[in-house]
Amino acid sequence: MARPLTIAIVGAGMGGLATAAALRRVGIEVTVYEQAAQFARIGAGIQIGCNAMKVLRKLGLEARLRAQSFYPRSWNNRDWRTGDVKFDMIFGETAEQKFGAPYLLAHRGDLHAALASAVPDERIKLSHKLVGLDQADDGVRLAFANGTSAVVDAVVGADGVHSVVRDMLFGASPVNFTGRIAYRTTYPAALLGGQKIDDCTKWWGEDRHIVIYYVKPDRSEIYLVTSQPEPEFRIESWSAKGDVRELRSAFAGFGGQVETVLSACPDVHKWAILDRDQLVRWTEGNVTLLGDACHPMTPYMAQGAAMAIEDAAVLSRCLDGVELDGVADAFRRFEATRRDRTARVQQTSRANIWLKQKTDADWVYGYDAWTVPLAA
Ligand SMILES: Cc1cc2nc3c(=O)[nH]c(=O)nc-3n(C[C@H](O)[C@H](O)[C@H](O)COP(=O)(O)OP(=O)(O)OC[C@H]3O[C@@H](n4cnc5c(N)ncnc54)[C@H](O)[C@@H]3O)c2cc1C
Repeated sequence: MARPLTIAIVGAGMGGLATAAALRRVGIEVTVYEQAAQFARIGAGIQIGCNAMKVLRKLGLEARLRAQSFYPRSWNNRDWRTGDVKFDMIFGETAEQKFGAPYLLAHRGDLHAALASAVPDERIKLSHKLVGLDQADDGVRLAFANGTSAVVDAVVGADGVHSVVRDMLFGASPVNFTGRIAYRTTYPAALLGGQKIDDCTKWWGEDRHIVIYYVKPDRSEIYLVTSQPEPEFRIESWSAKGDVRELRSAFAGFGGQVETVLSACPDVHKWAILDRDQLVRWTEGNVTLLGDACHPMTPYMAQGAAMAIEDAAVLSRCLDGVELDGVADAFRRFEATRRDRTARVQQTSRANIWLKQKTDADWVYGYDAWTVPLAA
């Protein structure tokens, strides 16, 4: 009998953890190497599309996520000045029946913790920053900044938009700074002093927008995220602070709910919005990339993590039952299966018109990573 594969996943973000959970489902034991010393609970929300929820359901996380997340009636799109509804993308039970899974609004930390709960602690090696990767005859050698090393059969680079695995495979290439920034934060809805806001609304301005939604089932916590021009700002970090007074003045004039939410907002983080063009290749021998490492996108469709989570399911299907000599081919099939869809979502997201007017969203939310045909 063939010996079990050993697979290393670099990065314990949404994509890396989802991949670890999905590979364990098909009996593949993995080790996840993460540079951070511990997982931090970042003050951010995350929309979990129906397409991602289909994957998370099979990973056993649906009940937990339903219990911790907000279940919105819709993603509403309004004009900043008049408040007129441009397009109301109905979710709730209608969408759940149509697309086969709920659309949930979560705290990012809750989704990350849910994914981490699907992977045994001992399979996640924190404080392991990858600094070297070499494909040799006896396996793929990994070197870490803490002086340790490992040899495995295959590697999945799930190390995000600044992926070192990608740079090691294909050479470094610059990211595309969009010249725009995002302010974002979560805070207790009690600070609104009883004023009501919509479930989930994107307020469209002329050159900027703000998205506001609840992230807890009892509406106890809200999230806001913006996009506006600021070409000089190039820091892309979950911890860089912003100035809440600058945020308020950037959205002065939006009025109504936006003013209510920004007036009560105690603190914000600030993030440069960036993406990359589609990569020519993701896979080299027994090493492949996944998630933002190979298809980072602007956040305007709220689908970046969903794409990483879909990747995880498809990769697990490609590797199911595969032995060592079939890994490179499985990785090639994975890339071929995912290439067109992720490129389309990257391009659509870049345009920043998603749901601005009546939009056919079926191709995004209706996708099922567990049943989509695999490439030859
Ligand atoms: C403002 C904003 C809002 C967003 N909203 C949504 C949304 O609503 N819905 C949605 O689906 N997506 C959303 N996204 C996109 C989503 O956050 C990303 O697409 C997703 O986090 C990508 O997951 P990943 O695992 O590929 O990368 P990451 O989450 O970036 O994880 C990469 C991991 O790799 C680790 N790492 C990096 N380098 C190394 C190394 N050398 N060695 C070891 N470990 C390493 C990092 O520490 C990190 O833990 C949003 C993004 C932004 C910026």
